Amino acid sequence: MKWQGRRGSSNVRSSTGGGKMIGGGIGGIIIAGILWLVFGVNPMTALQTGQAVTGGGSESSTELATSTDRDTQFVKVVLADTEEVWHQIFNEAGSTYQEPSLILFNGQVSSACGSASSATGPFYCPGDQTVYLDTSFFVEMRQNLGISGDQQGSGGEENQGKAGDFAQAYVIAHEVGHHVQTLLGISQQVNEARQQVTQAQSNKLSVLQELQADCFAGVWAQRNQERVQFLEAGDIDEAVNAASQIGDDRLAKASGGAVVPDNFTHGTSQQRVEWFTRGLESGNVQSCDTFSGAL
Ligand SMILES: [Zn+2]
Repeated sequence: MKWQGRRGSSNVRSSTGGGKMIGGGIGGIIIAGILWLVFGVNPMTALQTGQAVTGGGSESSTELATSTDRDTQFVKVVLADTEEVWHQIFNEAGSTYQEPSLILFNGQVSSACGSASSATGPFYCPGDQTVYLDTSFFVEMRQNLGISGDQQGSGGEENQGKAGDFAQAYVIAHEVGHHVQTLLGISQQVNEARQQVTQAQSNKLSVLQELQADCFAGVWAQRNQERVQFLEAGDIDEAVNAASQIGDDRLAKASGGAVVPDNFTHGTSQQRVEWFTRGLESGNVQSCDTFSGAL
């Protein structure tokens, strides 16, 4: 994936951890996640009740140890690419895109959705319209998720992780897809619908929401390709591989069954590949109606 030489977003910030714990830390966010899943309660609402900001955390030594200037610049460029594309798409529809923020963190971070740790994985919080990316997730993606062609430890900094670039961009685009769902009111509709259906149907809606974010990531890739021709040979295979590697079926095994809020209801690997590909081939958000005939 070609990315150097393009504008970097000004909406990226780094959190060095050591931050404040809101609502009992990771326990809070897990409980909120379960509340959201089971009852359709917005985690943000659940966490807003009487949450004094407590404690100074214990991660004071945390720094962005796994993040390099290159990683940060890469994330800035990808986020800027999503801004350009989604501004275009919203403008075409006669609307205005509001850009999300993105916080890079390592260790612990607090969000409007509660506190999260590196174990949480990447997530989007509607409450502060921010994408949270744990820098070690990218390292783990390169090392553990079987992304082909990675040349860890050879070729120096310039080549390190290069083969994983587009897979990482795909993850960012997926999270931005959740932001788009929020702007379009889809997330709110899904949350409301989930309150009125069975658990199984609720879970299904959640999966469909995730698959739509994958489809939106595909739309972004197609539109960004038209705009700046950023794809290189093997990039699509790389993203499809990443999609198939981070389906909930695989992640559940990899994590030993731990609750990971933004990925344990992502659908199967096959579903994720299908919907990403659909968005990629159409370049059109209209092709991403995963909900049609859902219930
Ligand atoms: Zn997601």
